[in-house]
Amino acid sequence: MFVPKVDHEKCTGCGECVEVCPADVYELQDEKSVPVNADECIGCESCVEVCESGAITVEET
Ligand code: SF4
Ligand code: SF4
Repeated sequence: MFVPKVDHEKCTGCGECVEVCPADVYELQDEKSVPVNADECIGCESCVEVCESGAITVEET
C-alpha cells in the first residue's frame, strides 16, 4: 500500500499533481493539494516528480 502526503508548508497550489495523477488522488482545497483518494494510489511517483516545491512524499507501507 502507498501513502501519498503533501507538506502544506511547501505546497503552492499549482495543481500539477492533480493533473498528473492517473488515480485522481489529489484535489485542491483552499489552494493546497489534499490526497483525498489516497487509497487509490498506485505508487507511480509522477506527483513527486512533477512537484517543483518538493512538497510530496509517497511512502510504501
Ligand atoms: S504539485 Fe506540489 S506545489 Fe503543486 S499543488 Fe501539487 S503538492 Fe502543491
Ligand atoms: S504516486 Fe502516482 S498514483 Fe500515487 S498519488 Fe502520486 S501520481 Fe497519484
